[in-house]
Amino acid sequence: MAVKTTRINRFIATLAVLACSPLMAPQALAGQDYDTALNYYKQKQYEKAAVHFETASLRAPGNLAANYYAAYCFHLVGKRPEAIQSYRRLSKNFPGTKEAQQAQRALSAIDPQYKASQTGNPAAETGNTGNLDVGSRKKETAESLTNRLVKVQKATGKLADVTGDFIKSIKEMVAAIPLPILILMDERGGEFDIAPSVVEHDLRIQNTAPRGWGSESSWKESPAVCSGTKVIIAQYKLNSSTGEYVTTETEIGVVRHETGHAIDHCLNGFSTRESFRHAYYLDEARVPDELRGRMAYYLQKSTSGPSEVFAELICSRLGGETDAYRKEVGELVYKHFPLCRKEMEKLLAELGVK
Ligand SMILES: [Zn+2]
Repeated sequence: MAVKTTRINRFIATLAVLACSPLMAPQALAGQDYDTALNYYKQKQYEKAAVHFETASLRAPGNLAANYYAAYCFHLVGKRPEAIQSYRRLSKNFPGTKEAQQAQRALSAIDPQYKASQTGNPAAETGNTGNLDVGSRKKETAESLTNRLVKVQKATGKLADVTGDFIKSIKEMVAAIPLPILILMDERGGEFDIAPSVVEHDLRIQNTAPRGWGSESSWKESPAVCSGTKVIIAQYKLNSSTGEYVTTETEIGVVRHETGHAIDHCLNGFSTRESFRHAYYLDEARVPDELRGRMAYYLQKSTSGPSEVFAELICSRLGGETDAYRKEVGELVYKHFPLCRKEMEKLLAELGVK
């Protein structure tokens, strides 16, 4: 506790210094988040402050103070991946400042990739293809990869085994994914696990609510989920109003969306990278007010919004949504996130997708 108080006090001292800095003229859009962040900060709500400082920083990359506060607040509340991203940006964008030096000190303590980058090993922000040897695997076919990536789980509870037709429809969807993406997933632990319901796959998630959903909803109502690099696909989901399980056959689009999340994980969080997040905040700021309610799921704060947009853009690239409601929102995401789309296309080109 004492340590924490000292750190916060030291932080407040720095805050006072930075408050006089000419660098602290945030651009108009970032200003709102910055003000909100300062309010949360004053109320000692450091986690909320961090999210708003980070948003302000990504919208106005020249704003040293926002970047510094974001990194520091994330660090303070133990949000390590977010702190690392923010410290890295601080170190890169403001070389020679004492804040960048502090960022480097923090990174040397919490970022395993920092040491590697110090010894001339370019690991941190690059490496989409990494050691991915697409060339040597040219003989591989979508069918052979599909058969390797798709796994079928036997029923363990009251639901029947998944049907042959369902497995076939999933395999067709997977086989239509561009080959370099299948190779990427194969190399990085990707999988498509078909189970009778998502909760039969992992009982721990049975009564938890998916991110961005109402707290009364549960994964039981979900046709597919992503668990790291694995996509878990259910043939049946719970209809909460009737208490019955219903088929998910018409929701193949959700599987494409979850595949987007799995790809994101295979790339160690592509959607958390500075280039993508910067594109995200520029796009996000231009989403018209009248659409913000309908698109709320894709406008979530912190890393959620960018990760959902990335997943949905991949979904549209793999054939799009199938359910009527999701189709409509998916098309809105496609239309209103053009810079994110560009970043995704750059990535796909780098992976060798034509
Ligand atoms: Zn999602």
